[in-house]
Formats: sequence, C-alpha cells, structure tokens
Amino acid sequence: MKNFTYLLLAGLFILMLTDVNAQSERFLHPNGVKPVSVSQPNRISPENRCGTMQSLEEYFRANPDARAMAERNKTLFAPENPSNGQNQRVQTVITVPVVFHIVGNATRQSQVTDADILWQLNKLNEDYGGSNADSTNAAYGFYPVRAYNGYCQIRYCMAQRNALDLPSNGIERVVSTLNGTQNCGNNSLVKHTASGGADSWDPSRFLNIWVGEFGPCLLGVATFPGTGPADEQGLIVSYEGFSNNPAYVDPSFALGRTAAHELGHYWGLYHIWGDEGGCSTSDFRQLPGTCLLPASLAGASNDVAFGDTPNQAAQTTNCPSGMTTDACATSAPGKMYQNYMDYTEDACYSMFTKMQADRMQWVLDNCRASLKTSNGCTAPPPAAGNDARISVIINPVNGTNIGCTTVTPVVTIQNLGTNTLTSAKINLMLNGTPNPTGYPVSWTGSLTQGQSANVTLPVVNVAAIQTHVLKIYTTLPNGLTDANSTNDTATSSVIRIAPSALPVVNGFESTLTPVGWSNLNPNNDGLSWFRFNPTGGAAGGSVWAAVADNYDFNVQNTVDDIVTPVISTTGLLANDSLLIQFDLAHKNYVPGPFDPPIQGDSLKILVTNNCGATWTTIWAKGDPDLATAGSSQALYNPPAQSDWRTFKPAIGNNLFGAGQIQVAFRNVNGFGNVTWLDNINIVMKPRKDMQTTAIVRPNNTECAPPFAPSITVRNGGGEAVSAFKTGYILNGGAPFIQVNNIALAPGASTTVTFPAITPPVGNNTIKLFVADPITPSTGPDGTPSNDTLTRTFFVASSTVPNVVEGFEGATFPPNGWFRINPDNAITWQRTTPGKTSSFSAFVNNYDYATNVYLFDYQLILLVQIH
Ligand SMILES: [Zn+2]
Repeated sequence: MKNFTYLLLAGLFILMLTDVNAQSERFLHPNGVKPVSVSQPNRISPENRCGTMQSLEEYFRANPDARAMAERNKTLFAPENPSNGQNQRVQTVITVPVVFHIVGNATRQSQVTDADILWQLNKLNEDYGGSNADSTNAAYGFYPVRAYNGYCQIRYCMAQRNALDLPSNGIERVVSTLNGTQNCGNNSLVKHTASGGADSWDPSRFLNIWVGEFGPCLLGVATFPGTGPADEQGLIVSYEGFSNNPAYVDPSFALGRTAAHELGHYWGLYHIWGDEGGCSTSDFRQLPGTCLLPASLAGASNDVAFGDTPNQAAQTTNCPSGMTTDACATSAPGKMYQNYMDYTEDACYSMFTKMQADRMQWVLDNCRASLKTSNGCTAPPPAAGNDARISVIINPVNGTNIGCTTVTPVVTIQNLGTNTLTSAKINLMLNGTPNPTGYPVSWTGSLTQGQSANVTLPVVNVAAIQTHVLKIYTTLPNGLTDANSTNDTATSSVIRIAPSALPVVNGFESTLTPVGWSNLNPNNDGLSWFRFNPTGGAAGGSVWAAVADNYDFNVQNTVDDIVTPVISTTGLLANDSLLIQFDLAHKNYVPGPFDPPIQGDSLKILVTNNCGATWTTIWAKGDPDLATAGSSQALYNPPAQSDWRTFKPAIGNNLFGAGQIQVAFRNVNGFGNVTWLDNINIVMKPRKDMQTTAIVRPNNTECAPPFAPSITVRNGGGEAVSAFKTGYILNGGAPFIQVNNIALAPGASTTVTFPAITPPVGNNTIKLFVADPITPSTGPDGTPSNDTLTRTFFVASSTVPNVVEGFEGATFPPNGWFRINPDNAITWQRTTPGKTSSFSAFVNNYDYATNVYLFDYQLILLVQIH
C-alpha cells in the first residue's frame, strides 16, 4: 500500500536525517509511517514538535539547485561585517512587526481570543529578552552561556498597519475549513488565500505567523533564512502549541514556546542535537540556503566543539530535571535540554545561548535586514477621503520575459480612502510616454476602504526587442484630487525577447528552465515539475531529467506545466510540420485494497499560437496507456534505461500559422506514480521526405517466380515531389534503381512496381527503398530512416505430384517440406501418436498464451506442386 503524504510525520523523518546538507539527492520518502494517535486528539507526540527540517528537505527535493548550492556553501562563509562589531551583534533593540494569521473554523476563531494572541507575543518578548523567570531552570553549568536579561536584542510587536498601510491590530482571522489532514499533507496550504489559508503580508516588512490545524502531525514549522518561497517565509504554529489557553492548547506545550523554537529556525538556528542521531554533527554549522554566516558564527558541520552548546546525541523529549547525560554529553553539565532548540516540553524550555543569540541577530542584521526598517510597528497616518491606488500589476509579471508583441495589462485598483470609491482614471506610462492609444481608462465601480478589484486594461504594444517599463497609476478618485498621490503607482518591467528559432531543445542538463522556459504550478500546491538525476542516468544516458512526483501527492487533477519559450514559425510553409520529440518514462499505479480510488496520471502536450490565450491539446496519454514500463506500487525511481520511450507528435500549419507557438508539457496528477520527461527537441520536420510505407510484393512465400517486386511510397514531407528514385537489393547483390517521374503532393502515396525477378529456391532477403526526391528545395531526403523496408521471403521448390506424407520419418520437416515461422515462436512439430500410425504433426496452441502472436497457428506446412 502507498504511503500517503499526509501521514509522513515530521518526527520520524528528523530521526532519519543525518545532515540535511549531506543527504544524497534522492527524493524517496521514508517507508515507515508513524501511526496517528486518535485516542488523544489534542495531545501531540513529542517527536512531532517541529517539522522544519522535513520542510527544508522537501524544499531541497523540489529545488535541487538550492540543495547543490547549500552543499557548496558548507565550506563557505560570509565576510565578517565590521559595522557589527566583533561579536556580530546588533547594537540596539530591534522590534519586528508580527502578523498572526488565525486560520480555522468558527469554533477556533472564538477559542483563540485577541488576548491569547497578545499573551503569545508578550511571551516571545519575555523569552527572547531572557527575562523569563524560569531562566533559572538552566543548570548552574549553563549560566555562563545563557542569553540572559536582555542579551538578545530581538523583540516583537503586534503590527500596527497591514501591508496596504491601513490600520491594523496585527491579527488576521480567516475562517477556513482547512483541516489537519490537508495541512499535514501540505503545510503551505495555510499560507495562501487561494488554498483556504491566508496570504502572507509582505514578508520583507512583517514576520508572518500562521496558526492553523496541524494536530496531531506537528506543533510547528519554520522557514530557514535563504530558503523557500518569499511569500511563505515565517512560521506555522498549531493550535495545540499556541499561546496558553487550555481550551485548545496541549498542556505539555502551553507556555507559548513552540513559537520561540520555530522562530529560532527562522533566525537561523538548528536543533540543539545537530539533527543527526549521533555525536558527529554540529548545531552551529553553516546555514543551508542563500544566507551565509561568517566563520565566527558557524563551523564545519562535524566541528561539534564549535559554539557554546554541548554536543548532544538526539532530541530530549518530555520534561527531565537535574543534570542528564547521553552518549555525546557524557559529563557535567550534560545535555542542554533547557534550550529552546531541543524537543523538551514547554515547562523545560528556558534559554537560548549567547552564541545562538548572536547568530539570530546576525541573520536579522544581514539576511532579514528589511525587517529592521519596517514601519509595521507604527500606525499609519489617518486615512484621507479620496485615495485610490494601483496596488499590484498582475499582468505582465514584473521581470518576466515576453515573447509576444503585445501585452494585456491586468491590475488591481484599491480604495485606501474613507469615501467609497466609485470612479477613477487609470493611466499608463509606457517607457516614459504617457497614455498610449486606449488610455487613460475610466474605471467605475464601488469599493469601500481597503477593498480592491481587478481591471483588465487595453492592449499595449511591446514589439520592440528591449525592456519595457509599464507605470500604471490612478488619478481623479471620485472625480476629485487624490489626497495622497505618493501611493498611486505600480510599475512592471518586462523584457521582450525575440522568439526562439528552431530547433528548441531542453535536456534539463543545466537547469529545469533555460532562458525563456517556464515551470508553472497554477494550483500553487506542493506538486510541481522539478529536476532530478536518477541513479543510472536519465534518458539516453544523460544526467538530468524533469520529474513530476505524482506518487507522493494525493490531491488529484492538479496540473503542472513545463512551457517552452515562444518559438518562431516564420518562414515555415503551408505543408511543413513541426515534430515535438521527447522521451518519457512512467509506471502505472494499481491501487491496493486499502488505497483510495485514483484516476491515474496523464501527460498532455498543448500548443498555443496566441501567447497563451488559448491552448490546443495535440497529444495526451493517461494511465494505464501512459506507462512505458508497466505498473508498480513502489515509488518509481530510478527509471531503467530500457523504460524510456521516444514520442514524436507532429503539428501542422493550422496551429503554427500565426508566426509563433509555445508548447506546454502538462502533468495531470492522478495520485499514480512518477512521470519522467527528458530530451525535449522541437524541430521542423524535414521538407524532403519520401517514405516506403509498405511492401506489396514479394509475399512471405512466393510459389511461382518470376514475379514483380512492388512497394508503396509516400511523400511525407512538406513540399511537392516531382520525381524520385526507387530500387531494391536482392540477397546483398548490386542495387537495382529506377527513376519515377511521378508527381506527389505532400501526404500523397503511390505504388511502384519493378521489373520481374526470379530469386533462387529457399530463403531470400530483399531490401526495397525510395531515394532522392526532387522538390523545390535542394538537398537530400531529410529523414532517411523511413526510406527502406526489408523482407525475408521463401521461394518454394518444385516436387512431384501425388504428395503423400505421414510424418513417420525421423526428419522433420521431411525433405522438400518447409516450416514457415516468421516470429520464431510456436510452430509445427512432429509428435506421437498419429492417426493409425506412430507420428503426426501438431501445433501446441493450448500452451501458448501470448496473444501478440495470435496468427502463428495459421501457418501451414507448405508444398509446391508442379
Ligand atoms: Zn525545530
């Protein structure tokens, strides 16, 4: 049975992790599935305290380039920053604005009061400031390293404004049906409005904390600095680990310290035991993403003496007291189970170390520095009456490549004023020139303060090959002067690139998406194409392939596209074709008795000739037909070389006649198995292509030579053929060639007959071919691989009339008889008994199950009678 994504629990995975940076590039999930407790739904297993390391591993799985970079970074360090002084500390208290997104049903919304949220924030300030009374719990051996009494200078405030600069209390409540099963299967659902969660507030200005249903799988998850999508930065805390209200919090985790732990990761701390199951890994090693610590704050991953935490073997659970030791911390002061980065219960947590505080502050100073200058902790000025703005340009997306000559801008207009906004002008400045044809647009509608609406604007010409700057701004809200003209404008710069010339190739060897290619995840979910290097190589012995892991994602019918650049079809003729060649490997998944119903995966190829406005499906296969290597209930990795199959769908002028196309390779997830894609190669089908499509003569058996060999040929190219050669080679002899002055339009066929021949008795081999088509363009036949067909045929001998054969002799077939068995499978044999005799001939159809060869038993013993 299949392991379901939502049952993959964080704790077990952490036990398996040795060093995230040293993981081989495998995306296999652990086979073990941790049983979910159903008897105590509000109690969290201590191993499930934190999903951060698993989340990081999943990020690397989906971003092998990031993993490779992290691997390189292990031996690199950021330069020391002299402005920070020798210990890298910020020199003043920094207060970070926090937004709490409370994502849950109505019951949760009433359970989690604003007071609970404030209590959580205040607790964070107490714990980070080292003013927590239970700080004394640290064994006396740890007092010298305790970040105590204001040593750490990071503090938190409730955001006083939202990302739109409207007044806020820093609490966003989203009534949602997202449940633990969904969230545990994909912990980013809670971070996006589109998936039932809450979009982050600008993560460069706010610390985002999402509170949601994650029991019983985990208490919290965080993003390490320099990893993960920008709009998912922050932390997740489950209700069972949030604040201190006994109505919903697990009593073991009721001091608000899940957030303290996860924030430690957010500021660049590892787990206290180094995330391995032994004494070999340092919790002060280099960070895994683009945020590089200096050598004073990070050591080699195996330098366990670096830093001011003891070397510790594994996580501590429950709540011990006094000094405890383990295989790595063998003597006093023993394990530092009091550290917020261990797995102890909240009552046992009480400290960060000074060097942990130094690391956190360095990360704030250098890798999350925009938070230092955020105005999120101060309330915005009072709103004006009439104040509109363009809050975002949805299309074109800033910084993207554009292959088309025009764009249709889509913007969001928002009312920041206290008056209801009913009209405004939307202006566009293109490369410094105001209001091209169609602008300004007179918008009308009705938006109360904070409300917004999307507006599709007139087409804008961006044909010139250059960067185009689109400045879009509002004027005259409600027909009056805008009270705040500083917030009216949004800007998007896009680069118009020349369409790619054929051939367009992508073997994924350097990156998943070379220049102009894109990887689209329109569902914005946990499944998307990624690049992977399977053991034994990808198709054709290359290293990398593109992968869609349908095995591990149980939300069916989601789509993910790899899209080519815009491809120029200028200069192609009406009868030309494009070949879209690619290599595919896939196994079907046949559900077991305990599996849910699945629809199976499919792969589709779609073409657009209007820059994505409409798409036409030109090729599609779904399970089980999609499978190239049968079915498997195991994760399909790696594919064998023999599993790969090459497909070559073609498209004609009806699709590429508009001058440009884009091709999308679409994975449709049906919770089946892994789909591998490699060696995309889009070429023009050669214009000159005569093909031999069938052998009319000789037959498999020729009884009465002479006979005239004959073939059917076809013009498979895009140009009219006025003449061509055909010929044959009999038994390896000299070729016979004839010229055929026959006109063939593209796609037309004809039959060509050669002069009669008299091959010798017995087996003969004849190669029949077409060659040298004459067309308007010069050069040879572009596809010689389809020119020739070969047939082995038998010419029977003469014998005497009145043939009598009872198969009694030891020789079989008897002299002068032949057995014809083209597929070398079952055939006639001599056996015993015969009809009133000792022997007979028989074919064992009974034991031959391979229906591929259904026609075998029709073969007969042959005799030619003269
Ligand atoms: Zn953790």
